[in-house]
Amino acid sequence: MKATGFDKSNHTHALIAGALEVGRFPHAALIEGGTPDERRSLAAKITAALLCQNDEIIPCGECHSCIKALGGFHPDILFYEPKRNPKTASKTANYYVDYIREIRDSSFIIPMEADTKIAVLCEAQLMNEQAQNAFLKILEEPPEFAVFILLSSTKSVFLSTILSRVTVYTLSSDAAETDSDIPYENALAAAQSVARAVVADNHFEIVRAAGVFDKNQELLKASLPLMSEIFVKALKIKYSALNGEAGDEVSELLSRRLSRRTLLKLTDYVNLISDSLSINANPNLTITRLCTLFKNASNEQE
Ligand SMILES: [Zn+2]
Repeated sequence: MKATGFDKSNHTHALIAGALEVGRFPHAALIEGGTPDERRSLAAKITAALLCQNDEIIPCGECHSCIKALGGFHPDILFYEPKRNPKTASKTANYYVDYIREIRDSSFIIPMEADTKIAVLCEAQLMNEQAQNAFLKILEEPPEFAVFILLSSTKSVFLSTILSRVTVYTLSSDAAETDSDIPYENALAAAQSVARAVVADNHFEIVRAAGVFDKNQELLKASLPLMSEIFVKALKIKYSALNGEAGDEVSELLSRRLSRRTLLKLTDYVNLISDSLSINANPNLTITRLCTLFKNASNEQE
């Protein structure tokens, strides 16, 4: 399967296209950064690709599903915008708790045409803590057929409990930074070997596995979101919340050996490392830091 319409010279687009091609786009994703239009148009492509009926190219742009999806009238793709709460005097639009409950209710209604029902929350940074907690309840026990995509100017406004349950994709505003020709398979292999090293008998394994990132910061950038995905999946296995999503060997292994707390910490560590990369911290120090943080987590094996 080939994903089309994605700018594969852009690191994040390439990651998303790669995940769609192998049928592993996450059930909950957060797309942050870029402009609102960029996020929306990326989400439109993802939703069309997820529901496309073509076996070779997604989105094909020609099947019934694509025509509806790309035309904006597929009944199983719901784009939500912030709105004003009619019960309060507030003049600004946002996601308030009752609105999140409305979104929840419609997300639980089975899809009309497709196997999947997708909710896209545009400008999701306008969710206050109370609304986030209401949304968290959906993420904790989502219906099997549901996919949630949050579009946000930044991930920094979200509670760590939300961040640990979503795969974060970052659109960089700096075009020069997003050039990457790292193939998805290479990034995945590196992410898996580092994640596996966390539960190895010898700490040196972490340093050895992370060695592939020396002088290859692009590979590190491409691998971090995939590492995060592995840890999130291990958590989901622990919570029995895979909901039909395929498990994988590394996530299964981690879910057996690490506590929920440690897995949550690991997803935080990945976010920390991504943040320091985005402010162009010294790459060698960043890799050393990753090794140190992962060694700490490794000491907490069950
Ligand atoms: Zn199609």
